[in-house]
Amino acid sequence: MTAIQSAAGLRPYGLVTSRPFRAPHHTASAIALVGGGALPRPGEISMAHGGVLFLDELPEFPRITLEGLRQPLEEGRLVVSRARATFEFPSRFQLVAAMNPCPCGYQGDSVLPCRCTPQAMARYRGRISGPLLDRIDMVVDVPRAEIRVPSAFSPRGSSEGEPSSLVRARVAKGTAFAQSRSAKTLREDLASLDLDSDAASTLENAARVQGLSQRAVRRTARVARTIADLAQVGHVSRSAVLEALLFRSAAPLTAPKAA
Ligand SMILES: [Zn+2]
Repeated sequence: MTAIQSAAGLRPYGLVTSRPFRAPHHTASAIALVGGGALPRPGEISMAHGGVLFLDELPEFPRITLEGLRQPLEEGRLVVSRARATFEFPSRFQLVAAMNPCPCGYQGDSVLPCRCTPQAMARYRGRISGPLLDRIDMVVDVPRAEIRVPSAFSPRGSSEGEPSSLVRARVAKGTAFAQSRSAKTLREDLASLDLDSDAASTLENAARVQGLSQRAVRRTARVARTIADLAQVGHVSRSAVLEALLFRSAAPLTAPKAA
C-alpha cells in the first residue's frame, strides 16, 4: 500500500498502517479511476488496495469507466501494456457501490410516487452491465429510513438499529473463525469451502434454474461460506446457500416492481 501510494504521488509518511477508503466522484476519468495513461500510474482502485473503494451514484459513472473495473475485480490487479514495458498495479479492494432505484429516486418508496417512465428506468439501470453486476456479490434494497428528530426530552431520539460496535465485534469473531478454519485465505476454491451435500445440490439447482454463470456460482458459494463463518459453523448448509442466493438475485435492479 505504501509503494502504491508513493507511485501515485501521495507521499505517504512512513509505512502505511491503516486500510484505505477511497470514494472517487463520478466525474473522475477512466484513467483516474482504474489507472493507466501514457506514463502508467495507479488509479483509485489501486489506491484502495487492501481497503474499500466506494462508488456513490454508480450509474452516473460513464459505462466505459465501469467496464474497466471488470478485470481488476476478477484478478485483483490491473495490467497495463506499453510498447516498452508491462506495468502491473495490485488492486485487491472491496467494492461498495450505491445507487438510486430509478432516476427520480422514489421507485418502490412507501410514501412518494415514482415519476420515471419505463424507458428512463431501463436506460438508468442499463448503465450497469450484466458482466459487472455478475461480479457484485450482494445487492441489498434499502428502504426509506425513519427520520427521528432529537428533542429536549429525548436528545438522541430512540435508535432501533444495532450499534456499529456490536456489528464490528460480530465481524471480528467471524473473521477469526474463518482464519482458524482455513490457512488458505483469499481466492478459495469451491472444494475448500466445505459445502454439505444439501448445500451443493441446492446451488447446482439454482445455477440451472436461474442460469447462473460459473463465476456467479463460485461467488455465491463464497458468500454462503461467509454466512457460515459469521455463525461459526464448519460446514456450509443449505440455508446459508439460500441466503446467499437472495443477495445475488439483484431483484431490485432487474425487475421493477409494479407501481
Ligand atoms: Zn423514479
